[in-house]
Amino acid sequence: AAKDRGRGCHHFYAEDLHSDAEERRQLEHDLREALSHGGLELHYQPVVHTGTEKITGFEALLRWNHPRLGRLSPAKFVPIAEDCGLIAPIGEWALRTACHDLSRWPESVRVAVNVSPLQFANPSLPGIVTNALAAAQVDPARLELEITESVFLNDSADTDAMFTALKRIGVRLALDDFGTGYSSLGYLQKAPFDKIKIDQGFVRGATMAGNRNSAIIAAIVSLADALGMETTAEGVETLDELELVRALGCSHVQGYIYAKPLTRLEADERTAGDLRMVASGPRAARPVR
Ligand code: C2E
Ligand code: MG
Ligand code: MG
Ligand code: MG
Repeated sequence: AAKDRGRGCHHFYAEDLHSDAEERRQLEHDLREALSHGGLELHYQPVVHTGTEKITGFEALLRWNHPRLGRLSPAKFVPIAEDCGLIAPIGEWALRTACHDLSRWPESVRVAVNVSPLQFANPSLPGIVTNALAAAQVDPARLELEITESVFLNDSADTDAMFTALKRIGVRLALDDFGTGYSSLGYLQKAPFDKIKIDQGFVRGATMAGNRNSAIIAAIVSLADALGMETTAEGVETLDELELVRALGCSHVQGYIYAKPLTRLEADERTAGDLRMVASGPRAARPVR
């Protein structure tokens, strides 16, 4: 029936059907518009210490409510921003906004900001970070930059110099989505990360009998421990997953089991009160279909 409907409506669709390239150009235009007219937002997902169950920080996550298309995932529009040169101004806006919001939160709370490999490759990044911190008057140690393994693809003297410059500012560095890229363990030895974020792909399914992900998480944790780095388990959704990652020694947890990303106002409210979180969610994962 769907097929019939599709055929019947074909001449309607054809009229406003844009080519991929056209749709892309339109999105680039809309994104530029959003950036300059306040259409972008940051939401903040709590990062919780496994021992105390207190919020130690928030990860800032970009949100764009497109006027016609509704909420678009950053997984969709960040790559577009990277392609059309908008990631530099959007990334700078995110750093400044996150530092500004951070300035209203208690000293014990940090903010983590995702940094695109393109920003990381730009020698102006340390200056942008310094300015964002100074404008908001926050301690650099309260800002964590999340970087993915792809920054090592063009491993060079420039990469090393960028790490040195960022550490000199005093910000923290986290390695995001660990284990999902073309990783080499070699860079862990020289790159000064404070934290490894274990990708939710490893958390998902880890509690199922016979699943090997728990062995992988255990190995990542012992590697991080040996190198003096913290670990955040990402995407923890069930009580079983929470108990597992805690038993495996992850120092922090981020996931729907504690909280979804919050609006700025919700984050303000949260930090004005008790920082302790209560896990709540399903016990076990839904069966994998
Ligand atoms: P990420 O940095 O790995 O962020 C974690 C993603 O996992 C977020 O998706 C978050 O909403 C989602 N998540 C958290 N807990 C759970 C859970 O329990 N279950 C599930 N299923 N998902 C969970 P989001 O916000 O859609 O962001 C996707 C990606 O977009 C981010 O992955 C990051 O790579 C990128 N991104 C987001 N904001 C920015 C930004 O400001 N700059 C850059 N360069 N990239 C960003
Ligand atoms: Mg991240
Ligand atoms: Mg991640
Ligand atoms: Mg990711």
